[in-house]
Amino acid sequence: MRSPYFDDGHDAFRREVRAFLAAEVLPHAERWEEQDSVPASCWKLLGERGYLGLAHPRSAGGTDRDLFTSVVLLEELGRTGYGGLRAAVSVHAYMATPYLARVGGPDLCRAYLAPAVRGTRVAALALTEPGAGSDLSALATTAVRDGDHFVVDGTKTLVSNGTTADFLVAAVRTAPAAPGARGATGLSLLVVDTDLPGVHRTPAPTLGWRSAGTATVTLDAVRVPADRLVGRLDHGFYYLMRGLQLERLVAAVLALGGMDHTLDDLRAFLRGRDVGGDALAHRQALVHRVADLATDLAAARQLVHHTAWLYERGELPAVECSMAKLHTTELACRLADTALQLQGSHGYARTSPAARAHRDARAATVAAGPSEVMRDLIGRAVLGGDRAGGSA
Ligand SMILES: Cc1cc2nc3c(=O)[nH]c(=O)nc-3n(C[C@H](O)[C@H](O)[C@H](O)COP(=O)(O)OP(=O)(O)OC[C@H]3O[C@@H](n4cnc5c(N)ncnc54)[C@H](O)[C@@H]3O)c2cc1C
Repeated sequence: MRSPYFDDGHDAFRREVRAFLAAEVLPHAERWEEQDSVPASCWKLLGERGYLGLAHPRSAGGTDRDLFTSVVLLEELGRTGYGGLRAAVSVHAYMATPYLARVGGPDLCRAYLAPAVRGTRVAALALTEPGAGSDLSALATTAVRDGDHFVVDGTKTLVSNGTTADFLVAAVRTAPAAPGARGATGLSLLVVDTDLPGVHRTPAPTLGWRSAGTATVTLDAVRVPADRLVGRLDHGFYYLMRGLQLERLVAAVLALGGMDHTLDDLRAFLRGRDVGGDALAHRQALVHRVADLATDLAAARQLVHHTAWLYERGELPAVECSMAKLHTTELACRLADTALQLQGSHGYARTSPAARAHRDARAATVAAGPSEVMRDLIGRAVLGGDRAGGSA
């Protein structure tokens, strides 16, 4: 039966994106994994195809398409089976630059969003610090006003695209945290060019998401022009609360695509692998495990698409975003683990798709808010408590 969420235009776009990724991206993706980065040429190609501006306004060169067009792109990026690539693109287009589009104002949109949409400047989101991940109220990077500049000091870590980004959308402390206040007060968002004096980047390699080029970025008395403030001073937490819902939804959509890839890969193996005179795809014990996972995936897809539909209607479905992220990213781990196991030593080979899926799936239960934080948020909402989220 046809999904109520996608029309013929979405289907045609899916075919177009899939063909593009197969021709222009997949042949090189393994090399990008080895290089721990997505090259400038790929960003430019994605920009030329309009894929970096689907959710952005026409005034910045975007195409302002509906959310389900982005869902198609993200699912197809997931389907490549390269978690680093999908993380890199989604951080750039759906996690860092949306702040510019939403509250950045025309000047920042012209200077940063428009080139990001063209793929000529790469964006990263810098929230996490060595001493502050899940708990944004502990952020310690300071931005002190000095004439026409902010002077920024601190360290950001686990910054995806951090090794290659041209600019960061960074959360900085512009006022001390108010004692006893709910949430993270005194935070602002600032665009920081990575070629400014005092910006030092060190690769911070992770288990998976290799081509996302994760880095630690030290900001040492960096003078950032005051007009790089995104939105209003000290309003960073409010902007992040909205942005983090989209982050979680995007993480869930990417996980769906990743699981499609893992399941396709497993199906091909089980059909093709003959053990004891018969294909593994005929062993009932294995068939049932695959059936359970495929059923879970189908149910997860409905939750994610329903959440996207709520989001598209203008609601901010914080609980559903957390549920979608929690459920899909944890399911992706179970699916990747089973896929690896059922492919025996073939799955365990370092460069096998199953091994990569295993590494990449683990990242998503931590990044954009760990599962435990998602459970906290959901549990509090279910039990009638606070519905606001507060995790990077
Ligand atoms: C591959 C990867 C890419 C990332 N990319 C980015 C990026 O681009 N930009 C960025 O800013 N950050 C990024 N992050 C950081 C990510 O958002 C943080 O890792 C995450 O918010 C958790 O913070 P932490 O790692 O400091 O863990 P901590 O906050 O130290 O928490 C450690 C563990 O404690 C548990 N825990 C934490 N809080 C609670 C709670 N309230 N209740 C119960 N248990 C809890 C969880 O199990 C959690 O995993 C990335 C992380 C990874 C792994």
